[in-house]
This record gives sequence, C-alpha cells and structure tokens, in this order.
Amino acid sequence: MDDRQFRNAMGKFATGVNVIATEVDGEVHGMTANAFMSVSLDPKLIVISIGDKANMLERIRQSGKFSVNVLSCEQQEESMRFAGQKQFEDKFEFDQLGETPVVKNALCQLSCEVYNEHVEGDHVLFIGKVNELVLEEGDPLIFNCGKYRRLEALEEVLSK
Ligand code: FAD
Ligand code: NAD
Repeated sequence: MDDRQFRNAMGKFATGVNVIATEVDGEVHGMTANAFMSVSLDPKLIVISIGDKANMLERIRQSGKFSVNVLSCEQQEESMRFAGQKQFEDKFEFDQLGETPVVKNALCQLSCEVYNEHVEGDHVLFIGKVNELVLEEGDPLIFNCGKYRRLEALEEVLSK
C-alpha cells in the first residue's frame, strides 16, 4: 500500500480543522491539525497527533501546554496560514485563554496542559487535560478528501 492510497483513504473521513497553538519564551507558534478527538469526561481529556518533523513538537514538549482552536468556515485563511499553504505579510495576533495563546473567533478554544505523551510511528500523540474553554456560535470549516469544505455544501448533497 503506498502513502497516497492511505492518505486518500483517511481523507474520506470528514473532519473539522483546528489550529494548535503554544508559547515558548514569549514566542507563539501555531500549526493546523485535523487529528483530534475527545478522550475522557472525567477527567476532561482530548488527544492531538503531531508529526515528528513538525516544529510544533518540541515547542509543546517545552511549554507543557497547548490550545486547540476549532476553526469556523470563515477561517480557511487561518488554516492555510498555520499549515504553511499560503504566506502572509501581516503579524497574526493571538488572544490569551488561561496559560495558552488562542485564535480569535474560533468556534471553540480549549486551553490544555499536557497530561500524557505517546510516540506512535512517525507521530506523537499528546493527551491534553482541558483547563478552560470558550465557545462561539457559527459553522465549522470542514476538511474532506484533501479539500476545505463548508457544511452547507454537505447539506445540499444529503437533501438530493
Ligand atoms: P511550521 O511549518 O513551522 O509553521 C506552520 C506555518 O504557520 C508557517 O507558515 C509559519 O509561518 C506559520 N506560523 C507559525 N506560528 C506563527 C505565528 N505566531 N504567527 C504567524 N504565523 C505563524 N500535521 C500534523 O502533524 N498533525 C495533524 O493533525 C495535521 N493536520 C492537518 C490538517 C490540515 C487540514 C492541513 C492542511 C495540514 C495538517 N497537518 C497536520 C500538517 C501541518 O499543518 C503542516 O505540516 C505544518 O506546516 C507543520 O507545522 P510546523 O509546526 O512544522 O509548523
Ligand atoms: P491529504 O490527502 O494528504 O490528507 C488526507 C488525510 O490523510 C488527512 O486528513 C489525514 O487523516 C491523513 N494524512 C495526511 N498526511 C498524513 C501524515 N503525514 N500522517 C498521517 N496522516 C496523514 O490532504 P492534503 O491536502 O494533501 O494535506 C495537506 C498537507 O497536510 C499534506 O502535507 C499532509 O501530509 C498534511 N496533513 C498531515 C496530517 C497529519 O500529519 N496527521 C493530517 C492532515 C494533513
């Protein structure tokens, strides 16, 4: 099985899109990530998966904290910025929630501390304990089959 076939298979599973953010020595680093899952209610745990080549990896290890920011359908540019898919000249201004930087206007901001870490293949799974959260109204940005999509488009397909 080649990598492309595996990625095409994984891409069939539609997800939301998050920006993970952390701060080390006063410098904020952001990274787009769709590998995310709710893990436990008691305690409140989530998991993210970070590639072993990502600059984000050592930053999370150093800070011991990160935020998960669920993007709205108005925030494709934020996803592209933090995936390195598009370059921007302007400085990106983060908000702060608890001890982590967060993305303004995200549908959900989760401020987490690292609860556990598991190295699995070429990714590292970070279990995050959610300390604070903020919710906003709006529709999510969707990632499916390697493309950004909006929820309205999915509803049209379903109603046919
Ligand atoms: P870098 O490549 O160092 O940074 C990413 C980009 O963010 C750069 O362009 C950088 O300039 C910019 N940036 C970072 N901090 C700031 C700041 N403070 N202000 C302004 N710009 C900043 N990879 C995974 O490991 N796990 C996933 O779950 C995952 N899901 C993805 C989902 C989608 C939809 C996409 C498009 C990509 C996904 N990726 C995922 C890939 C990942 O986003 C990229 O490989 C990313 O470039 C790797 O991050 P890095 O930490 O090496 O960041
Ligand atoms: P794609 O077709 O590569 O992505 C489809 C699906 O494949 C993703 O949703 C993810 O589940 C999986 N996937 C892709 N790359 C992976 C990787 N390196 N490790 C584990 N799973 C992976 O979509 P695309 O538009 O070509 O993606 C844009 C870029 O973002 C690519 O460079 C891709 O590798 C990267 N990406 C990485 C991850 C990840 O590391 N977990 C997830 C999504 C996208």
